[in-house]
Amino acid sequence: MEKCKARIDSLYNGSAVDGKGLRCVVFFTGCNMRCGFCHNPETWTEKGIETTLSDLVARIKRYKSYIKNGGVTLSGGEPFLQAEFCKELCKALHNEDISVIIETNGLICDKELIEICDGIRLDIKNQERDVDKRVFDFLNTCQEKEKFVTMTNVLVPSLNDTAEKLNNLKSIKETYSCIKEVKFLAFRKLCESKYSRLNMPFPYEKYQEGTKADLQRAYDLMSF
Ligand code: SF4
Repeated sequence: MEKCKARIDSLYNGSAVDGKGLRCVVFFTGCNMRCGFCHNPETWTEKGIETTLSDLVARIKRYKSYIKNGGVTLSGGEPFLQAEFCKELCKALHNEDISVIIETNGLICDKELIEICDGIRLDIKNQERDVDKRVFDFLNTCQEKEKFVTMTNVLVPSLNDTAEKLNNLKSIKETYSCIKEVKFLAFRKLCESKYSRLNMPFPYEKYQEGTKADLQRAYDLMSF
């Protein structure tokens, strides 16, 4: 366990928005995308903290009773960039009867990691471009492994809340029966101060924040 290491940005205890129940969230360092709305730009550029598997598992175990109706979410950054560590982490947490889901952009299709985890939260990035072809490979594997997938999507007003973009999402949902849930997330600018601290421009400064009404319109269009 000591030899198995990863770089993480932080461990957050007590999230109610990263999957079912209360959860510990491991934010991994490093990402292979640069989304303009990203809330965690520090994971792109900062080196994070090197952690061993045993240390991370010990830290999570302290919250075991607290997360008994939830579990652990691997997030970032992009956890699949550190897939080997994530596989070992899943095994170690399963030994403790703790379930693990992974938040991902779906660009890295590591079949073993998809198989071993207990669920996937796949954030579809369709804001400025079409959905990357690699995401469909990823979904094909989730389908094959009968993995529970929650499809998430950050709605940015005037950018990806058009009928065309929403109908595309609907057709993805209808194609893959492994997608059991769809959750729209409203674009927010709470992260702006992080960009200032990092001396980076906030790419989506010009867009308006999303509202509850925007989310409802998207759910209605997708008939959920
Ligand atoms: S994939 Fe996630 S962590 Fe990476 S830039 Fe996009 S929102 Fe940020």
